[in-house]
Amino acid sequence: MTDRRIPLALDRVRLTYPDGDRRLTALDDVGLRVAAGELVAVAGPSGSGKSSLLAVAATLLRPDAGTVRLAGQDVGVLRAAARTALRRRAVGIVFQQPNLLPSLTSVEQLLVTAHLRGGRRALRRATERRRAEELLESVGLDASRRRRRPHRLSGGERQRVNIARALFGTPQVLLVDEPTSALDHERGARVAELLREVTRTHGTATVLVTHDLGVLGRADRVLHMTDGRLAE
Ligand code: ADP
Ligand code: MG
Repeated sequence: MTDRRIPLALDRVRLTYPDGDRRLTALDDVGLRVAAGELVAVAGPSGSGKSSLLAVAATLLRPDAGTVRLAGQDVGVLRAAARTALRRRAVGIVFQQPNLLPSLTSVEQLLVTAHLRGGRRALRRATERRRAEELLESVGLDASRRRRRPHRLSGGERQRVNIARALFGTPQVLLVDEPTSALDHERGARVAELLREVTRTHGTATVLVTHDLGVLGRADRVLHMTDGRLAE
């Protein structure tokens, strides 16, 4: 049952971690379907399993049970190399900490991703550079900020670069982990608004994990995570 309009579908997913001589259940029978162009927020207290959910959706962790379909592919049947290729092609990830490289300008943060994906030639291509500039402009970075290294950007601007970088590979699925946790309320709200815009413009299936209640109003749907269980 593949649906092109549902780039991300988790069904009956269970994930456990080793915990002494027992197992800790991080995801307990989780189901989630996210449509193209939809922004789903997942709220829940610290330790409830939100980051684990994103890690499974990103194919970074393999669930103990259940299925993950990404861009129409059943991830569970893929070998490691194919899984990595699918992740690179279909998923954009925005972690809590922007993890920008200190020596690179904003534009270069995006281009280095193209370099890793497409080899040396991609880095030289003028079209790649133009696309990086356009994406950064679309997330609100003016020309001078596009030339700056991260230490000369504010926390909110760094998070914008982070989001533009995740979009650079034209992902169908965008996974965002607590992007506003390091920002004050107003900057947090602007980043949430930006995520809503990019979800519409780029048509991504976006999952936004947060414990910031102010962010939830921007979402199309809000789900709550409690002790590894997900509910509307
Ligand atoms: P959240 O993002 O909502 O704070 P997490 O997904 O990080 O929740 O964690 C869910 C549960 O799994 C927590 O009890 C956490 O301590 C545990 N956990 C997370 N990562 C690991 C890990 N690598 N090894 C063992 N336990 C982990
Ligand atoms: Mg977390």
